[in-house]
Amino acid sequence: MSEPNPFESLQEQIDDAAAYLDIETDVLERLKHPERVLEVNLSIELDDGTLRRFEGFRSQFNGDRGPYKGGIRYHPNVSRDEVKALSGWMAYKCAIVDVPFGGGKGGIVVDPDELSDSELERLTRAYATELRPLVGPDRDIPAPDVNTGQREMNWFKDTYETLERTTAPGVITGKAISSGGSEGRVEATGRSTMIAAREVFEYLGRDITEATVAIQGYGNAGSVGARLIEDLGATVVAVSDSSGGVYDADGLDTRAVKAFKNETGTVSGYGDAEELTNEELLTLDVDVLVPAALENAIDGDLAADVRADVIVEAANGPLTPRADDVLTDRDVHVVPDILANAGGVTVSYFEWVQNRQRFAWTEERVNDELESVITSAFDELVDAYESKDLPNIRTAAYVVATRRIADAYTEGGNWP
Ligand code: NAD
Repeated sequence: MSEPNPFESLQEQIDDAAAYLDIETDVLERLKHPERVLEVNLSIELDDGTLRRFEGFRSQFNGDRGPYKGGIRYHPNVSRDEVKALSGWMAYKCAIVDVPFGGGKGGIVVDPDELSDSELERLTRAYATELRPLVGPDRDIPAPDVNTGQREMNWFKDTYETLERTTAPGVITGKAISSGGSEGRVEATGRSTMIAAREVFEYLGRDITEATVAIQGYGNAGSVGARLIEDLGATVVAVSDSSGGVYDADGLDTRAVKAFKNETGTVSGYGDAEELTNEELLTLDVDVLVPAALENAIDGDLAADVRADVIVEAANGPLTPRADDVLTDRDVHVVPDILANAGGVTVSYFEWVQNRQRFAWTEERVNDELESVITSAFDELVDAYESKDLPNIRTAAYVVATRRIADAYTEGGNWP
């Protein structure tokens, strides 16, 4: 059977949950589509003086619970359907952790490795200029995603503020601390991944210090998640990035692997570790698998070969719906993306609150509040999973989130 694209996967996940909810079909139909998608044509001057055109998108999925919120991705595979899916996952994620935001996502079809720093700056500023009518601290608040980080967020904020002739740090999150960023934001996605792994082990009555872990993707989410899970006492035996992976049965030193990647650009070739492919990593005989790269990493066929019995999704959409079915049948416990990586948007919310208050929190306060948000959300999902006898925790997550979004919509009423 062919696998759906990420947007179709999202719609299938919502339909799966709707079967357990009493929501009118016409309301549900609304919750399965973005409210609007902007497509922009970005022509920037390259360093050699020639012009080059790039395609960009911003999808605003649902604003019933608050301003649209979600990252900006720079990748050659960015597409309209991908940003639509990612914006939807953001809406459902914000509802699960109950932060007062809707869902949005943006992206530019670009391989950032092909551009110089100044070309990337011009591209980011061109994108921010095109998005200006749609974004704002009370409208739509972007953040980092694959291949973007503090630097791009700072450029975006500066462009918006210059055009608006104001100061509005809350227009974007994931900024550097000196530009109005929050303590703890860089680590937040990996931190919620760690909390999700810890909580599911506790729920299953298992000891995480005995666990072996494999992590696909060693960027922001994957490398921080790896380090914090190692700090819990688990053994991280394999990690990978787009160039391949490394394996050491005795455990990798996640900090040393990160330092190696910072120096060489990849984890491949680290120390005396064995090399392995991404497919080999995903089917390793480990206790926990953490996909932290891109969508559709595990399809229905590969899911049959996965040997981990716990999966914690740091990436957005790493399992296809077919993979989900196979893993549910095999009793593999999956902590879904919309909870496991929700630390990013939760601390983005804290950053936005701090920007509005013009008052900075300590890292300790940020981490404490994050801990409380993710553990409460985990408990709510497990409660729905057990009390409604749902097939898996992902369905529980969509049941909880769809209810919250549908309530916000129906309470507000339809207009015109
Ligand atoms: P990143 O750009 O920092 O890192 C991505 C990593 O994935 C890199 O190491 C890259 O080499 C690797 N990768 C890419 N293709 C791969 C492949 N085919 N096989 C193995 N590795 C591959 O990005 P990130 O911010 O860490 O995002 C990773 C995932 O986490 C994405 O799905 C993103 O949407 C999700 N996420 C990120 C945040 C955040 O705050 N950064 C928040 C929530 C969710």
